[in-house]
Amino acid sequence: MTAGRHDQGGPGEGETSRRDLRSDFGGVAGNLALLAALPIGTAYLYFCARFNGGRLLPGPEADLEALAQSLIPSWETAAVYLAWLAFQALLQAFAPGPTVEGTPLEDGTRLRYRMNGRSSLLISAVAVGAGAASGLLPLRWIYDHFGELISVVTLFSYGFALFLLIYGRAGEPARKTRGVIVDYFLGAARHPRIPPVTGFDLKVFFEARPGLIGWVLVVCSFAAVQIERHGSLSSAMAVVCTLQLAYVLDYFWHEPAILTTLDVQHEKFGWMLLFGDLVWVPMTYSLQAHYLIDHAPELPIWAAALCVSLGLVGMTLFRWSNLQKHRFRSDPKGLRIWGKPAEFIETRHGNRLLVSGFWGWSRHSNYLGDWLLGLAWSLPCGFQSLLPYFYPIYFAGLLIHRERRDHQRCAAKYGEDWDRYCRRVRWRIVPGLY
Ligand code: NDP
Repeated sequence: MTAGRHDQGGPGEGETSRRDLRSDFGGVAGNLALLAALPIGTAYLYFCARFNGGRLLPGPEADLEALAQSLIPSWETAAVYLAWLAFQALLQAFAPGPTVEGTPLEDGTRLRYRMNGRSSLLISAVAVGAGAASGLLPLRWIYDHFGELISVVTLFSYGFALFLLIYGRAGEPARKTRGVIVDYFLGAARHPRIPPVTGFDLKVFFEARPGLIGWVLVVCSFAAVQIERHGSLSSAMAVVCTLQLAYVLDYFWHEPAILTTLDVQHEKFGWMLLFGDLVWVPMTYSLQAHYLIDHAPELPIWAAALCVSLGLVGMTLFRWSNLQKHRFRSDPKGLRIWGKPAEFIETRHGNRLLVSGFWGWSRHSNYLGDWLLGLAWSLPCGFQSLLPYFYPIYFAGLLIHRERRDHQRCAAKYGEDWDRYCRRVRWRIVPGLY
């Protein structure tokens, strides 16, 4: 098996940045701890929402026995999940959609990606709708098997990451590997494809398809259970579902923008990304809808409007800033931002750093927009419990850590030019504050 051009990052991804990133997430000890802690954390949040009365800390309603029982995986759930993966993989391979080129690799060539997320989402919605309407797979199946799904998908991610390790290392010169544990956790290959180079892109597939579309289904399932149980959809649930659905739709609408993100351009593909995409996103980002099944405050119209407006502000900032960078990096010729020619800093490396538009406000306005949107879909849950606010609290930590890692990588890559950029664009994420 030859894995071919697995490890090529952007031009000039040097040994310095590779060495620095080896200690990411606490090195070997930190990686091992996270391999255990993230699945336990997912199960704990599920426990809080389902078996602990919606509290973040164990309370009088805590039912550990029911939790343990519901986490036992079943063959039925494994079969349904594998069928879901196979269905999504078929859509990725054959659903209609344009093919676009990614950013240049180390040798100047570009990989090609099939961007058929929109049609895949549509076909998935029709298929799931038909399954639910026929009674073959009712929407509440996900709710009923949620604990089993957490276990099944977690086991799958441990197993598939092993495959990624072996496959990635096969195409990897030994000098570039970072040890078995780190390679398993953070990945051994940057662009694993089957077959290499021209084939099915595993990272971009798992980054979005089974998990993001799965997240929509999870949220719809929780909403369906609320209607079944309480006779109607609460306004709070409606706001949460609308904002989360809009986030996923927006992703697929602007799918090529994923090609200029940190994950696709620079991260290798290992357990951390895989688990995040398959388990963490659908199972924990749906926490608000899970909580709301039985704790739905009736929102006054002004409160619902406020949450939706905050969500729209967040989404606009998130998408618009990501698009500014994506267009700049994909085809900067003649690009105008806010009516003026795009301004940038030339680097000795050859890449240009945009300093116009949102990229002149702060180095990651896109993170701020994303966070505001997450806050907007937590607020409809009210203030009875801290549980629904797990997401904005955790996400703030993730984005601050991510910005620091990106800063370290870019400083190693661009040297003095990065310092110049940071002097020009002073704020890291929140203009005027941080
Ligand atoms: P960015 O999209 O900001 O990409 C960072 C990369 O862009 C850098 O490594 C650098 O790469 C390049 N870059 C940095 N500054 C500039 C500049 N001024 N001009 C041109 N290029 C620049 O970061 P992420 O990939 O982390 O995030 C993408 C989106 O995904 C964000 O909106 C984020 O909020 C979201 N996200 C969401 C998560 C979630 O769980 N919901 C998790 C992670 C991200 P190069 O080396 O090529 O120069």
